Amino acid sequence: MNENMQIILNKIKEYDKILIFRHFRPDGDAIGSTKGLAEILKLTYPEKKIYLQNCDFSDYLAFLGGEDELLPDEEYSDALGLCMDTATEKRLSNQKYKLCKELVKLDHHIPVESYGDYQWVEEERSSTCEMVAKFYDTFKNELKINKQAATYIYAGMVTDSGRFRFRDVSGETMRLAGLMLEQGIDTDTLYANLYLKDFNEFKFESYVYKKMKITENGVAYLYVDKRMQKKFKLSRESASASVSYMEKIKNSLIWIAFIENEDGSIRVRLRSRFVTVSELAERYEGGGHACASGATVYSKSELKKLVNDADELLKKYKEEHDGWL
Ligand code: AMP
Repeated sequence: MNENMQIILNKIKEYDKILIFRHFRPDGDAIGSTKGLAEILKLTYPEKKIYLQNCDFSDYLAFLGGEDELLPDEEYSDALGLCMDTATEKRLSNQKYKLCKELVKLDHHIPVESYGDYQWVEEERSSTCEMVAKFYDTFKNELKINKQAATYIYAGMVTDSGRFRFRDVSGETMRLAGLMLEQGIDTDTLYANLYLKDFNEFKFESYVYKKMKITENGVAYLYVDKRMQKKFKLSRESASASVSYMEKIKNSLIWIAFIENEDGSIRVRLRSRFVTVSELAERYEGGGHACASGATVYSKSELKKLVNDADELLKKYKEEHDGWL
């Protein structure tokens, strides 16, 4: 057993108030892990005050339900803060996390930065939700779970692992997913909420296929500017989802979606097979996982520079390795 789990459980028992934080632009894992753990703690310790304290939300995942109102600053000072699924402090959506008496970092990203008084970081886990499932499984004689908590956790496990396809999915991932399914999750409704798309999103998808480009060495990329987002009536999240449209191109081991933000900066979503892209992302204010990272650029010329860097990286990778597709 990872000894940090016991330390975190002891801390949870010690505090009457627990505030739970996650990164901005929350995905299924950020929302699932925070809501899932909150639900387990509320069921197990009904006398404790457990609040989700976040400032940025997801329309796509709104079906999982809302979160708590932000508490006044003075409510933070006697609380334990749990910061989940967030590699660096500046990515936490609610910067009031600093006001908590003590902080725990619980995450599965490459640990580019250590923060908090206690840490449980396992970068080989497929999701933070998998870690929450592991936490429950380890202490299941003490902790309580229900269908709702399991649904949150399973939603994050499914989405962060690309439906259990990514390389960090292990036998234990599947066993823990099984443990969640045994709580009676309605998977028909969950998958319908996660994977059905609006008609206009299909129109956008076909447009993307026409517009995407590929470099000499096989980096596929596309740029979704604000005009396109308006034309297809896209939410920020459905524009960003376009990165997955490029994932099945043979010989293209790196693919990148550039999405123009409201303020003119450009969100970069990097994905890869076999090749590590997190170091490339770190050079552009980003980070993440070996094969799924994010970054930011501020101009078309910086965008081109990143594409050229990715092309160089892929060229080198192909020269030095065999067996890729
Ligand atoms: P995204 O393309 O935004 O889904 O990001 C892919 C992965 O990289 C996710 O696990 C993010 O949490 C992580 N990530 C995205 N942007 C950053 C960043 N600026 N710094 C560190 N990690 C990031």
